[in-house]
Amino acid sequence: MSTMTTTVIKPRIRGFICITSHPTGCEAHVQEQINYVKSKPPIESGPKKVLVIGSSTGYGLASRIALAFGAGADTIGVFFEKPPEGGKPATAGYYNSTAFEKFAKAEGLYTKNFNGDAFSDEMKEQVCETIKKDLGQVDAVIYSLASPKRVHPRNGTVYSSALKPIGQTFTAKTLDTDKELIKDITIEPANGAEVTDTLAVMGGEDWLFWIEALKKAGVLAPGAMTVAYSYIGPSVTWPIYRDGTIGQAKKDLETTAKKISAMLAHENGKALVSINKAVVTQASSAIPVVPLYISLLYKVMKEKGLHEGCIEQMYRLFATQFYNSKQPTLDSDGRVRVDDWEMREDVQQAVQKLWLEVTSENIRDISDFEGYKTEFLKLFGFGLPGVDYEAPVSLDV
Ligand code: NAD
Repeated sequence: MSTMTTTVIKPRIRGFICITSHPTGCEAHVQEQINYVKSKPPIESGPKKVLVIGSSTGYGLASRIALAFGAGADTIGVFFEKPPEGGKPATAGYYNSTAFEKFAKAEGLYTKNFNGDAFSDEMKEQVCETIKKDLGQVDAVIYSLASPKRVHPRNGTVYSSALKPIGQTFTAKTLDTDKELIKDITIEPANGAEVTDTLAVMGGEDWLFWIEALKKAGVLAPGAMTVAYSYIGPSVTWPIYRDGTIGQAKKDLETTAKKISAMLAHENGKALVSINKAVVTQASSAIPVVPLYISLLYKVMKEKGLHEGCIEQMYRLFATQFYNSKQPTLDSDGRVRVDDWEMREDVQQAVQKLWLEVTSENIRDISDFEGYKTEFLKLFGFGLPGVDYEAPVSLDV
């Protein structure tokens, strides 16, 4: 319900999260990404009806924007965000999704948002019914969830994911983004339950459940493609990422891609995992070591003219790998790689050198920590050009 109350909203950062967000700023952030896509050539022969699971922030939002505004796709978005309540602003993804809907509808694109738990059977049923009623079928399903927990729809167990190494203690440099200090962090290895629980949250089972539900409802078009996102990165992050609890879950995602591909093969459908580059999102800010790595990576990639954020990555993914008469180029493990520029040898060598040198004293000079902070604030709608942050705004949009 709309109220007339207006207020001035300022960022309030707590650790790796900002607990406020700015509605006008979030709208400007969405507009900025739409403008980028519109400045590029259209994505020819792109999908026309798309389901994006995890569509409100980060890579999922950028996928939705790239396909709606690059390929003219009708989209259904599923996300889990808080509306404004008790004088507190909504979460950024809520404002992003409202802004997306406004801009997409203005272009005559069908747009539907589902705010709730994507892991539940009820959400899958509701979405399938809506596709059947409004779109008939979807020809692309983007799976871009990042969540700290999952209530299992079949046994009710609540699984929590952990970001921990496996088998050995991990000590490395990390950046305390709040205090702006480089310090060592030591993380004890995960126990067995933490490994399996993380797999239950971030592994492939829910992706499979979605495709099974869509297929059973008859709402997946012949030749449909589905893609889920993963990360590999450099060896400094492997103990906490690739070889850690989250890495096991991501390996499961790759196994699931093969299962889903087999399921869809008779109708020429396919499932792929795309390895994306490291970018500033709410999910990546929460991973120890990663914000420091991103600050150094951004410095190097900007200097080399290779910098990309979510929207540049997702436009490139769809424009050069899936559509425009292109076929995905797969690595030896069958994955799409849009982390190719990040992983270039010259880029990684330069980052590695800076990694050894970086301290609290020189972080501002040798890394792009400023860029990191700017991007982080933008996730919550702060620091966007043209937005008057002194003006009171309505929390309801
Ligand atoms: P993000 O935090 O920006 O987005 C997560 C999305 O999931 C949001 O839309 C959120 O609303 C939604 N979500 C979370 N729990 C949900 C639930 N229970 N029900 C419905 N929606 C829910 O994260 P991101 O960084 O864009 O990550 C998306 C994917 O990309 C992940 O698989 C991540 O591992 C992968 N990835 C991220 C990076 C990176 O650097 N950020 C790099 C490579 C791959």
